[in-house]
Amino acid sequence: MIDRKRGPGLAAGLLGALLAICLAVTATSAMAAERVRAAAADCSAGYVGLTYDDGPNPGNTATLLNALTSNGLRATMFNTGQNAQNNQALVRAQRDAGMWIGNHSWSHPHLTQLSSSQMSSELQSTQQAVQQATGTAPRLFRPPYGETNATLRSVEQQLGLTEVIWDVDSQDWNGAGTAQIVQAAGRLQNGQVILMHDQYATTVAAVPQIAANLRSRNLCAGMISPATGRAVAPDGGTTPPTTPPPGGGSCTATIAQGQQWSDRFNLSVTVSGSSAWIVTVTMTPPQRVIATWNGTPSWDSGGNVMTMRPNGSGNTFGFTVQHNGNWNWPSVSCRTG
Ligand SMILES: [Zn+2]
Repeated sequence: MIDRKRGPGLAAGLLGALLAICLAVTATSAMAAERVRAAAADCSAGYVGLTYDDGPNPGNTATLLNALTSNGLRATMFNTGQNAQNNQALVRAQRDAGMWIGNHSWSHPHLTQLSSSQMSSELQSTQQAVQQATGTAPRLFRPPYGETNATLRSVEQQLGLTEVIWDVDSQDWNGAGTAQIVQAAGRLQNGQVILMHDQYATTVAAVPQIAANLRSRNLCAGMISPATGRAVAPDGGTTPPTTPPPGGGSCTATIAQGQQWSDRFNLSVTVSGSSAWIVTVTMTPPQRVIATWNGTPSWDSGGNVMTMRPNGSGNTFGFTVQHNGNWNWPSVSCRTG
C-alpha cells in the first residue's frame, strides 16, 4: 500500500466521512445503478475486463464497490483466500454488487517456486473459502505476479480454473496516479483485460473517468469468459441478485469431482442448509450433461443450464458431463424453494 500524504484536517475529514455516507446511500439503490447502466448501454465496440486483485480489504472494498456500482461498472475481483476467509461479508458484498469473483491463491506466494501439492493447496483452499462465503466456487484464477508454468497450469486444470493474466497493467501497485490509471484503461481494446488492485485510493478515484472513457468508445465492462479467458458480454444479461432468495431459507451447494474418463467426467453436488433446495448448474458449451442421478432435473432452452430439485434421494445429486474438449467445472448456485 502506498503511504499517502496525511493531514487533510478535521473539517475535510468530516466532509469526507459525510460524502462517503452519501455515496453509500446512493449506491445501495440498485435502481440508480441500473439507470446508469441503461444509459451506458452502447456496447457496439465490445467488452473489456476490469480486474481488481488482492481483496477484499476492510478499509477499501466497500468504497470500491460503491464507485463501481454507481458508475454502472461490473468487474472481476481476484481475491486471496486469506482475505476472503477473514472478510466473508465483503465477498458476499462483491457478489451482491454484481462482481465476478476469481481465485488469486491463498497467501499470494511466488507459486512457481512451490511444489505441485503446495500449489494445489493454495488454490484449493481459496476455492473453498469463496465457496463458503458465496455458495459458488470461482472459475477464474490469476497467479500472483502473473507468474505461471506448466505445473501450475495443470493444477489449475484439475480444479477447473481458467488462468487469466492481463493485457494492460495499470501500474497502480507501482505508484501510478489516478490520471495514469485512467490513461492505461484508455488503451483497452475489445476482449482485453486490465490489472488493478482493491486497496488503493488512486484506483478507486479512477473509476468515474474509466467509466466515461469506456462509454465514449462504446465499450462496456464485461465478464471474463471461463472458456477463453477473454472479456465478453455478461451472461444472462440481467442484474445480479440483490435480494435474499424466496422461501426465507438459504443453502450452500458444494461441487466435487467423481469418476473420470477420456471423454466425460462425473461430478456430485452436496447441498447443506436446507432440504427444499433448487440448485442451478451452468455448463459451458460444448459440454453436455448426458446422465443425472438422485435429483429431478429441468433444462433451459439452450440445454446449458440445469435446474435440479430433490427427488427424495437426499441432498447429494450427481451428473455426467461429456466435456467435448472443455474440462472446466460448471458453476453451481443454490436457492431455497
Ligand atoms: Zn496480487
